[in-house]
Amino acid sequence: MFNKKDRQILLKEHVRKVLSPLGDVETFLEGISLHEGLLTIVLNADSRFETSLDKIQEDLRENLKDFPDIKNIIVTMSQHKTMPADSLAIEGIKSIIAIASGKGGVGKSTTTVNLAAALAQAGQRVGILDADLYGPSLPMLMGITEKPSVSADKKLIPIQKFGIHCFSIGFMIAPEAPLIWRGPMIQSTLRQMLKDVLWQDIDILLIDMPPGTGDVQLTLAQQVRMSGAIIVSTPQDIALIDARKGLEMFRKVNVPVLGIIENMSIFHCPHCGQPSEIFSHGGAKREAERLQVPFLGEVPLDLSIRAGSDGGIPVVIANPQTPEAESYKAIAKKIITALEQKEGALKAPPIISVV
Ligand code: ADP
Repeated sequence: MFNKKDRQILLKEHVRKVLSPLGDVETFLEGISLHEGLLTIVLNADSRFETSLDKIQEDLRENLKDFPDIKNIIVTMSQHKTMPADSLAIEGIKSIIAIASGKGGVGKSTTTVNLAAALAQAGQRVGILDADLYGPSLPMLMGITEKPSVSADKKLIPIQKFGIHCFSIGFMIAPEAPLIWRGPMIQSTLRQMLKDVLWQDIDILLIDMPPGTGDVQLTLAQQVRMSGAIIVSTPQDIALIDARKGLEMFRKVNVPVLGIIENMSIFHCPHCGQPSEIFSHGGAKREAERLQVPFLGEVPLDLSIRAGSDGGIPVVIANPQTPEAESYKAIAKKIITALEQKEGALKAPPIISVV
């Protein structure tokens, strides 16, 4: 039986072997770290790797699949020499926040558009990037049917709706087209959506992440300099288990978690006014306390929120004075405060643990 140390040596040797066709491994391999199943390989900032990272990642996945300790592999480049210190920042954007959920259907996209509207009403210049490649819903939620135009230098121009700058893969394809992605396509599409979209003077970009903690989420969390992540969950235990996984993923890649939102919290009967706890209540707040992250607020389960999403006009825009719109506005205020407080920390380069 191999002990832990032997396994580490074996793993490092294996990684070196897989990388050896690329040249003298000692000259470009900067670090290997394995933390809770996530293997991170850091290569030095050599431009020849820029276009082949996906391929290297795939090769490693294929060759290391017999290592039971490894659940996922990320290959990244270090930041020095040829790469500017802020290479992970997206031009034209001050702060980027990922809106994530452990599983689908908890209202992440609905929360994203309403928060964007509330942030815009609070005076921020806001963008939304719909990175949910498997189920892009931004076109429907914002009632956008047109295609983005292209700038003189061939960049895609986000579509403005209700004063919010929007981009979604859904703008480029027919709504009923099935989206089937292979690993490398995901990576290159994401990179394109990050680099080839012309964001201009955006204060806060909300990224509507795909649900879960797979490849797309990891790639985004690692390649983009995010100011923070927000986790959306319903109050039920079953949703909270997944939310916890999402939170752990962001922690692992050093993205600060700005907090948890409880969506579909209390339901107030429109006829008798009585509150009902359809999906339970208070679970996200308790979870936030347990995990020591801020609790950002509750959004009720409400007909007008659902109708706003289906009708392409977020409730914060359609009915800004209602209690449900107020719940989003209160959360938006907390986000702005959190970003102001983090300002200093945002400027620090991302940390990658290298062994
Ligand atoms: P996700 O992005 O997590 O998959 P969606 O935002 O698409 O979830 O929401 C799933 C469904 O739930 C949609 O029909 C949406 O209109 C509805 N929904 C989301 N949040 C609420 C809410 N607070 N009250 C009522 N309906 C909601």
